[in-house]
Amino acid sequence: MTTDRPALLLSIDYEDWHQLVRRRVDVAGWEAPGPALARQTEALLSLLDELHARATFFVLGMAARAHPGLLAPIVEAGHEIACHGDAHRLVHSQTPDEFAADLRAARATIEDLTGQTPAGYRAPAFSITRASDWAYEVLAGEGFLYDASQHDSPIAGDHPEPVTATTAPHRLESGLWEFPVAVWHTSRAKIPVGGASYWQVLPRPLVLTGLKRAGSMAGLYLHPYELDPQPLKVMLPPGATPSQRTHARLRQAQRNGARRRAPGMLRAIARHFELLPYGEAYARLGGENPGTFKP
Ligand SMILES: [Zn+2]
Repeated sequence: MTTDRPALLLSIDYEDWHQLVRRRVDVAGWEAPGPALARQTEALLSLLDELHARATFFVLGMAARAHPGLLAPIVEAGHEIACHGDAHRLVHSQTPDEFAADLRAARATIEDLTGQTPAGYRAPAFSITRASDWAYEVLAGEGFLYDASQHDSPIAGDHPEPVTATTAPHRLESGLWEFPVAVWHTSRAKIPVGGASYWQVLPRPLVLTGLKRAGSMAGLYLHPYELDPQPLKVMLPPGATPSQRTHARLRQAQRNGARRRAPGMLRAIARHFELLPYGEAYARLGGENPGTFKP
């Protein structure tokens, strides 16, 4: 169904915040399932249902394995399952072979848990750089149809030499479609408006204006923790050092800021834009809807 509202692409980078924060501060047992992803998923699915919106879930393999029951309700609600890699390692820190192995591990987990083959990919922290743009060839070689990792903003990810991105969907040399994250290009700056982490610091009218200017089919991304109905609390093991605790609390404070603003902003965005999963945008651009692919 098409409407006269401009279209934006809605995505969730589906990962377990507790796994990632515990790994970042380097505590033992970080890969154990975190205590919050189930309630975050429930809140997220309930909000998407309220907004009559379907989204693309870029699923992180290691999070899905730690919570094997959580993908089924996402699929049942009609959302698209795509791939966020397996171990959340930066693409530019890997070799092409390591990157391919990471994709295969994630895809095997996703196929095992959902019966679906992901057609789309988003790099952890938008980490495909000019020096690692071989990643597009690897993705195409592994059977992926589109990428959603380009984010043309100097403050997104902070990687050396990010690939040059446009705001509109476009075809890459590898044959993949690229769906970049929404960035508002003003005469003076590139303002990232597509992620909930930016919504915590930008006034709502500015975000809505920026999304209109970002162009049709620009990408939005959220994380499950940004929809958490409860405050995020890092739970470190008893042996964690004071420095590990301080580091973890800092991450906790940053993430809780984004959490407070995200649901209201997404409701406001849904009033002004049509929200689409990426696979549907891919189909509208002429490809077969990858949501119908089965392994
Ligand atoms: Zn991520």
